[in-house]
Amino acid sequence: MDPNAYKHHLVNKYSREELQRQLDAEDFQRITVSFYRYVRIAEPQAFRDALYACWDHWRCLGRVYVAAEGINAQMSVPQPHWEAFQADLQQRPELKDIPLKVAVEDDGKSFLKLMVKVRPKIIADGLDDGSYDVTNVGRHLDAEAWNQALEAGATVVDIRNHYESEIGHFEGALTPEAETFREELPEVLELLKGKEEEKVLLYCTGGIRCEKTSAYLKHHGFKDVNQLHGGIIDYARQIKTRALPNHFKGKNFVFDERLGERVGEEVISHCHQCGAPCDTHVNCANKECNLLFLQCPACAERYEGCCSGECQSVIQLSPEEQAERRKGKQPKRRFTSHRKVG
Ligand SMILES: [Zn+2]
Ligand SMILES: [Zn+2]
Repeated sequence: MDPNAYKHHLVNKYSREELQRQLDAEDFQRITVSFYRYVRIAEPQAFRDALYACWDHWRCLGRVYVAAEGINAQMSVPQPHWEAFQADLQQRPELKDIPLKVAVEDDGKSFLKLMVKVRPKIIADGLDDGSYDVTNVGRHLDAEAWNQALEAGATVVDIRNHYESEIGHFEGALTPEAETFREELPEVLELLKGKEEEKVLLYCTGGIRCEKTSAYLKHHGFKDVNQLHGGIIDYARQIKTRALPNHFKGKNFVFDERLGERVGEEVISHCHQCGAPCDTHVNCANKECNLLFLQCPACAERYEGCCSGECQSVIQLSPEEQAERRKGKQPKRRFTSHRKVG
């Protein structure tokens, strides 16, 4: 057991509050942007270091993954540096003309720090990329073409995890039960069995997961594979700017401090504790648990922000007793899509 676990935890906790305080004190706006590209990056570590130095200097925040196969980024960029940020991307050959997706519903407080990590892959898909042609992707549809295909009754599959599609998805979409992308792919294949000759529509948050999935489906004999270009994030922007009908119901789950971006006005999911309509994700107030789940305001009050009576009893312990319980344990991100009564 790490004897410094308690100390580290406090440092992290306070630095998080300090980071939040700094963010609240800023006198400029921020833009929440996401982008990705599958592109050959010769030296991921050097590439990462160069990006980090530049972005940190501009006080950009976010979560970015770099791999030999490409880049996947979710960031918040200070408005005063937005032009310079874009110009900088343009002058890097790997990132030239990369499509940027700007969030629609945004208070600019989406990230607290900048993290740029080198990883073996930009999305953990569990696939052996050597076994099929990853560049043979589906047809990319813009929001208008997507709507037409939907209205014509094509099969649509949400290739995100269940906790994401639970709070929002396209009308009539198949929503797999999987909790990770790795588990998702075989399930999608199973769901689509027998539809090899039909038109299939795929979508995800920002489009990145559709790249590998569409190639994977084509490899498995699907003839007419289509994907929503730019994902739900860009669909939301296009229906606003181009005044198109919206076929997305509820919220788009996003992996930042906001946890969700409203696209459709309706609430399609329920509180995991009492079953009342609710699409607000929270992390259990018991840091040791940290479960991400849906909780309505009444249950938040009743359970003091906890997922269960058990967690509630933990947060009622003294800070010292709680720290003792946490010793050596790292809070991890966990999700539930299931109603869990405390
Ligand atoms: Zn409730
Ligand atoms: Zn809990």
